[in-house]
Amino acid sequence: MFRSKGSSILELLSTSLARSGKGSNAKRAQRVEGALQPAFKQAQNSFVPSRHYQSPFLRPAPYQHFRGRKPWWQSQSTVRIMLVVGGAGGVYYVAHIETVPYTHRRHAVLVSPATERSLGAQTFKQFRDEAEAAGKLLPAQHPVSRAVREVGLRIAAVAQEDVDGQPIQHMKDLQWEFAVINEPGNVNAFVAPGGKVVFYTGLLQLLKTKNEIAAVMGHEAAHVVARHTGEKLSSTLIFAVLQVAAGLLLGIHLPADLAQLVIFLPNSRKQESEADAIGMQLAAKACFNPGAAALVFQKLGAAEQQQGVQIPTMLRTHPLSKDRVKAIEHNLPKAEQQYELAGCNAPKGFFGSGAW
Ligand SMILES: [Zn+2]
Repeated sequence: MFRSKGSSILELLSTSLARSGKGSNAKRAQRVEGALQPAFKQAQNSFVPSRHYQSPFLRPAPYQHFRGRKPWWQSQSTVRIMLVVGGAGGVYYVAHIETVPYTHRRHAVLVSPATERSLGAQTFKQFRDEAEAAGKLLPAQHPVSRAVREVGLRIAAVAQEDVDGQPIQHMKDLQWEFAVINEPGNVNAFVAPGGKVVFYTGLLQLLKTKNEIAAVMGHEAAHVVARHTGEKLSSTLIFAVLQVAAGLLLGIHLPADLAQLVIFLPNSRKQESEADAIGMQLAAKACFNPGAAALVFQKLGAAEQQQGVQIPTMLRTHPLSKDRVKAIEHNLPKAEQQYELAGCNAPKGFFGSGAW
């Protein structure tokens, strides 16, 4: 014989009835009812409702006091979502890896050339309008503006093609623009995507020949060729996504300062060196003396020393001028080869005076 909770209730019931064998019906009923109370209580306590019909809303809430949050990797659905999102992100990243013309370095550019061009046009307009409003924009007919434009257009023409003469897709149909801003204390030049170049007179007063202007112009055009702005925007975007993911999934805060030191500054220096190397080839293809770049960076190095500010290499966006001169000397034979191939028709070692 086997026992169950049901049989124990019946046993209790029969025992109670046997005990109440004599007396009036009413009294007997009361005694039965009294005797049944413990049986009902036991039945109530032993009753476990079927899970199938138990409303989740009626289930007692478990105590929360010592319940920790379940880690995301223990939740199958969250892991699945993470894998899908991570996989899609990885596919998107790989699909946007491209090869830098001239150097053949591989890099990911997640923004489209159209987006880059639009950002470049806005930036250029802003700088030019502000300079104009401040009376600092050199007129287009000024000899310095004309020299910058002439050198710029010659380099822009050759920058449309790769080292082997193949057209570079994102360099097609660019609207190159040049502006010279009269700030004698500003030894600088920059390019915005889409071929928008700004020179400051502080730099131009150091450059005595068109070959020297071409060295800077080649460097600036090289940033456009190598899509360095798009690459920088992409790194910033990827870091922002990683920062959010690390915060949400691991509860870790990725500090932006550390990323600046470990990722962005080294990348920036790498891009500058790459722009130097490509720039020399562009200048040479446009029949400017590629060796002028060494002279320009020697002058920049001297200007830096005059300013007396020594920034440690780790914190620099640009490589040290003396390191750049060394790299330029290393890259010179390749650029001279471009000069020959372009049919610039000068005997080896002679590139003309290139005076303004
Ligand atoms: Zn640069």
